[in-house]
Amino acid sequence: MALEKVLLYLIDNSGPFKELLTKVVNAATQPLRLILYCDGITPGNAMGFDNKRKSIIWYASFLEFGILLCHEEVWITIASARTVWAKKVPAGVSGLTRRILREMFIDQDIAGRGIRILGQLLRVCFHALLADEEALNAMLYIKGASGLVPCAVLCCAVNKPLTSDLVGGRRSMTQRSALLQDIGCSDVRLIGLKSDADVWAQADEVAASKDTPGFKLKETTRGMSYHEDALLFDIPLRQHFKPASSTSVDAMHVVFSNGVLPGEIMLLLEAMKKRHGFYFQSLRDYLGPWKWSQIGEPADCFNERREKSSNAVLKIDASHLLAVYPAVRVFVVEALGKSTRLVNEIDSFLSVCAICDLLVEALHCPAEARALVIADLLTTAVATYLEAFKKAYGLEAVRFKHHQLLHLPGQIRRDKRLLACWTLERKHITAKQAFSNFCQASVMPAGALARMVNAQVRERMHACMYMHAWCASLRGVDRLTCAHCT
Ligand SMILES: [Zn+2]
Repeated sequence: MALEKVLLYLIDNSGPFKELLTKVVNAATQPLRLILYCDGITPGNAMGFDNKRKSIIWYASFLEFGILLCHEEVWITIASARTVWAKKVPAGVSGLTRRILREMFIDQDIAGRGIRILGQLLRVCFHALLADEEALNAMLYIKGASGLVPCAVLCCAVNKPLTSDLVGGRRSMTQRSALLQDIGCSDVRLIGLKSDADVWAQADEVAASKDTPGFKLKETTRGMSYHEDALLFDIPLRQHFKPASSTSVDAMHVVFSNGVLPGEIMLLLEAMKKRHGFYFQSLRDYLGPWKWSQIGEPADCFNERREKSSNAVLKIDASHLLAVYPAVRVFVVEALGKSTRLVNEIDSFLSVCAICDLLVEALHCPAEARALVIADLLTTAVATYLEAFKKAYGLEAVRFKHHQLLHLPGQIRRDKRLLACWTLERKHITAKQAFSNFCQASVMPAGALARMVNAQVRERMHACMYMHAWCASLRGVDRLTCAHCT
């Protein structure tokens, strides 16, 4: 859907949204900065053999909404596509994302000609591409964690050495060149952060090697796949979409949702079991009397069902983990604080908790100056944690998500806040409802899109909460402590 038309529709049909956007527009001194988010959703039976409703969805918002970005109502649904159809499109999700951006920035020229809303002519520039790892890989058409260069548009870090290579006596890439760092590197100054020009030059190298014998090797060493319709290879779009400057890894997926924290807790639990005989039951017993408003009983986060299903990472959703990790820290400090057999493991766990504390503060921080301080503190905390983790569990246990932590402080400095997918994942609940009850799957994407926009209007009709949050943000009050918003 055309961004200008959706905004006009929302302005015409929702008084609170119109009021909110008027404040944003009046306060803007530069072009509005667009954030694009993409994810896959599975409405209906997720385990079904042939789920025809499985879809890709794109949301957009503006950085100028500031602290209100934690409300799903300021994220506008701009496109959707059935997954089975998207796979047939040249370059798949990357090709579709390219079409969306081309339509906005080249056909509609929202950066040059601008959009006319609320009686003003506003220009919009592209600011950030936000998604989980899988969706970022799909949009950018890069190989990701499984590739030789997993962070293809952000830095030059290479993957860790394969065990089979080490056993076979083959030297790792970092042993062959002192210039290279692997994903276990804890110093962001050494990983070779890429500029947009670096990424485009490498994309051009890959494109130029097409039809030559070295093509596959070039794709592998650059960490990107070639397709003429993929986002990185669109030359006219480059003046608007800047890959290294805008790609944003998501703190929720890097740390909480199947991220480094649930992995860390499982490693610690295994170590506790081996050396102290403590495991899930010990946590259940310790947390048994605790009652928390957010999650009810923290002990339930370590119930028998989770104990059976957890392997490399603790099976727990991100919201519950966010609420329960401080309780686990209290357990570790009280029960194991004097342990001499788990010094490194406890140090690693406490270090990742320090990162979580900073991320939680950054998520709710309305003050830009404080966000910059948090970014500096996070740089140190991440370096400390990665060293502690390697000391406790070795390089072989390092995951790509550990490396992605290094990119979070830079993103906070760029945005003066922490952009994360919590809100967008919550918005998927409405999206899944909007994608339900279609007899014809072929009409679903357009119909669901209309439903999503109308759901937004209905929500905004009762959006006094957002206005209070806006007032709170102006006063520098945290949304969670604003009396109107709790
Ligand atoms: Zn990187």
